[in-house]
Amino acid sequence: MERGKRVIQLAPNMTEGRDTLELRNYMEISVDHYLPNLLRAFPDVCTCEHCLMDIKAIALNSLKPHYVVTSKGEVYSKLDEMNLQYETDILKALIDAINVVSKKPAP
Ligand SMILES: [Zn+2]
Repeated sequence: MERGKRVIQLAPNMTEGRDTLELRNYMEISVDHYLPNLLRAFPDVCTCEHCLMDIKAIALNSLKPHYVVTSKGEVYSKLDEMNLQYETDILKALIDAINVVSKKPAP
């Protein structure tokens, strides 16, 4: 009981002055990060909202999710750490997805 009480008292202080913590799929953040630049190499693919969402969905379905706990200010430093590890897989998944959508754009 004593232990439980302390946790309840400490919790508000621990989060005070900090950004809210978020659970994010790193792959989703990365796909948003890489896609705009990558699309410049594919001038023929449709970039309407529906096609962009299709590209993201196809790419994310082919990538293993990788969840990270971040505060808002921290997202980008985590991205840097992990970019090298996953960059090749993410770019390949996005290019495959762009090719699928460019052959069959959203109606
Ligand atoms: Zn489209």
